[in-house]
Amino acid sequence: MTTQPPDAPATRLDLTPVEAAHQASFLDFVEAEIAPYAGQFEASASVPPELVRGLAEQGYLASFVPEKAGGAGHPMIVHGLLQAALAGGSASVQSLSTVHGMVAVAVLRWGSGELKERFLAPLARGALLGAFALTEPGAGSDAQAIETTAVADGDSFLLTGQKRWVSFGQIADLFLVFARGDDGPTAFLVPWDAEGLTITRSPLTLGLRAGMLADLDLQGCRVARENLVGRAGFGLSHVAASALDLGRYSVAWASLGIAEVAFAATVKHASERRQRGVALASHQLVQRRLTDASTLLDAARLLCLRAGVRREAREPGAIADTLTAKYFASRAARQIADHAVQLHGAEGLSDEHPVQRYFRDARVMEIIEGSSEVLEILIAEHALAEHRAARGPEIT
Ligand SMILES: Cc1cc2nc3c(=O)[nH]c(=O)nc-3n(C[C@H](O)[C@H](O)[C@H](O)COP(=O)(O)OP(=O)(O)OC[C@H]3O[C@@H](n4cnc5c(N)ncnc54)[C@H](O)[C@@H]3O)c2cc1C
Repeated sequence: MTTQPPDAPATRLDLTPVEAAHQASFLDFVEAEIAPYAGQFEASASVPPELVRGLAEQGYLASFVPEKAGGAGHPMIVHGLLQAALAGGSASVQSLSTVHGMVAVAVLRWGSGELKERFLAPLARGALLGAFALTEPGAGSDAQAIETTAVADGDSFLLTGQKRWVSFGQIADLFLVFARGDDGPTAFLVPWDAEGLTITRSPLTLGLRAGMLADLDLQGCRVARENLVGRAGFGLSHVAASALDLGRYSVAWASLGIAEVAFAATVKHASERRQRGVALASHQLVQRRLTDASTLLDAARLLCLRAGVRREAREPGAIADTLTAKYFASRAARQIADHAVQLHGAEGLSDEHPVQRYFRDARVMEIIEGSSEVLEILIAEHALAEHRAARGPEIT
């Protein structure tokens, strides 16, 4: 638990009426346009273009971008509620909002005036789709190990290397690519049709099967110098850091969304399904699973809300709270989905029932945007730094 500054707003337990109204409208959209079709999206390993357009028209892609920059201007808690609602319908669809948002926030926070002028409003409107290309064959958790190179060539840079597992890379218009230049790791916006860029489908993954993942092969891929995001050398320390911070916030809430639908399905099934002459829910060993799931869900919800409150207040502790929320909520979602599968028996394993999808999607949440092990390192570092700060300077 991070220390609360004396003038900080108290962490809330509930949504405001305005937030609750947003949540209701997100859930209506998801119920009508996403949830009934989530299995079909998986079967086709794609999200239909008309749904992508629908999300864009609703302002659901990069909803946090301020209105004056062309976005919906959603406060962070509302943005989180949107991620939870989308993920409850289809975590694959929600992952588009995560990665697209990561590109938008990079431009918003670090892009030059010219880059913002060219790209921010189209990204906010979803007229351009963004994808985030950091991972490489030899660099996953350890982003510092990226080997893609950026070599200056007149008014351009030539990028050479491989990127893997790029969500929605199959349909993105614009990639945020991280490459190593003379000044260190640097971020570039690379259009999908840039000379020297080849895009191929990645293998299908256990979860997020409709995530339209792609691998990028950059062979002297020419990128205009003005497409550099932030300063040369700031690619990982600033640009990727901001993008991943938002990505983790989105994944925390998305995990909560999966946990919520998995829990709702479990309670319904346990109440309706009868074994040994009574409802499953009457058996005490079943109640133990319901208790575990309910407690995990409550805690995940509170951690997500705390991270949202702190982000809206722009408190420095928001970064650590986001790490904690993502770490806990992704594990909670997997555990709750596991209870859901177990209590549904064979039905829970069948591809005609969504709980097996919740389980597979939740499992992915523990790996993307910082695996649980990476977060264990980062959360411990924050806790130790806080301890040192509270203790004051070392006396030797
Ligand atoms: C569905 C999906 C979508 C994705 N989308 C994107 C995307 O849009 N853009 C993108 O750039 N990438 C994307 N990725 C890649 C993702 O970010 C990486 O998979 C993730 O960063 C982990 O890297 P890795 O797979 O190379 O695993 P590794 O880094 O090889 O790690 C393997 C295991 O070792 C553990 N480990 C690593 N280091 C340590 C350590 N120091 N201590 C203890 N344990 C450690 C990890 O936690 C993990 O469990 C996606 C992946 C998936 C599955």
